[in-house]
Amino acid sequence: MEDSKVQHIASRDLIHHKDFWYEDGNVIVAAGNVAFRLHVSVLSRESPVFRNIFLAEDSVHEIMENYRLVRVSDTAQDMEYLVSAIYHARRFREPNLRLPTDLFASLIRMGHKYEILDLRALGLQHLKALYPMNFAEWQRITDHLGVSGIVMMFVNLALLTGTSSILPPLLYECCQLSDDILLTGYTRPDGIVEQLPQHVLQRCLAGRGNLASANNNARLWVFETNGCSPLCERKNVCSAGIQGLPQFAMKGGWFTTDMAFAPMMEDPSVNDDMVCKKCRSMLARREVDSMQTMWRRLPDILGVSVADWQP
Ligand SMILES: [Zn+2]
Repeated sequence: MEDSKVQHIASRDLIHHKDFWYEDGNVIVAAGNVAFRLHVSVLSRESPVFRNIFLAEDSVHEIMENYRLVRVSDTAQDMEYLVSAIYHARRFREPNLRLPTDLFASLIRMGHKYEILDLRALGLQHLKALYPMNFAEWQRITDHLGVSGIVMMFVNLALLTGTSSILPPLLYECCQLSDDILLTGYTRPDGIVEQLPQHVLQRCLAGRGNLASANNNARLWVFETNGCSPLCERKNVCSAGIQGLPQFAMKGGWFTTDMAFAPMMEDPSVNDDMVCKKCRSMLARREVDSMQTMWRRLPDILGVSVADWQP
C-alpha cells in the first residue's frame, strides 16, 4: 500500500547493523544512523511499547527497502544491547552472569523505556549488587579509592526506576566528586552526557556539609574511650598512643575528609608503635559502630527519603 504520505528512505542514508539485519525480518528499526532489520512478532511479544508502535495506524510513516521504518530516539549502542538481549536471551539468563557496566546500565534504561520488565530487573540486580543497603556488605565491596563520574549515570537510573534504596550510597559517592565533574556530568561510551538533575545537585552540595559534620562527630566518638583494651599488655604505651590519636587524625585530614566511611584504623600508620593489636581491634570495633550509626542516618544526612532503608 502506498500513498503520498509514505516517505521512502534510500538505504544509503542508514547503515545496516552488522549482526542484527535478519534477511527474513519484516520491520526496520533505526537508532541514530544504524538500521536493525527485525521481526514485528518478536518485538511485539517482548515489549508492549513496540507492540503499540506497530499497531498504531500512522498516516505518515517511512519505508526502507519495502519495509516499514521505525525511528527511535535511543542511541545505536542502546538499541544493539536491547536487541541482543531479546534475540540472544539465553545468554542473558545464565546463572551468576556478570555484565559489563555499560551493558547492564543500558538494560535498565531500555528495559524501563520499552517495558521489558525482566531485562530491567536483570540490570537493576547488577546495580543493586554494587550499592547494597547493608553497611558491612557495602564496606566489603567498596575500595575507598575515590569514585568516578559514572556514579551520576547510576543516580539517574535509580531516579528513572524509582529505586530509592541505592540513592544513599550513590549520593555519598557523588559528594566526593569534584565540583567540576559534578557540573560537567559523565560522558557515556555512546557519547551521551549524564548530568544530575538540579534538585539532586543541591542535595549533594548540602550533603557534603552534613557528611563532614557527621564524620567529625563519628571520628571523635571513636577516641572518646576510657582507655585501652582489657586485653592490652602494655597499657602505658597504648594509653599515650590513644591520647595521641585525635592529633594524628587531625594531621591526616580524617576529620575533614569527605570519605566519611574510610576506615582510619586500617591506615598502616596506625601501627604497633602507636597502639598494640588488641587496642587497635577495640578501636576498630568502635570505628565500625560509629560508621554503622552514621550509615543508618545516611538518608537523613543526604536528604533523601527511602521508605525501605534497612541497613
Ligand atoms: Zn594496647
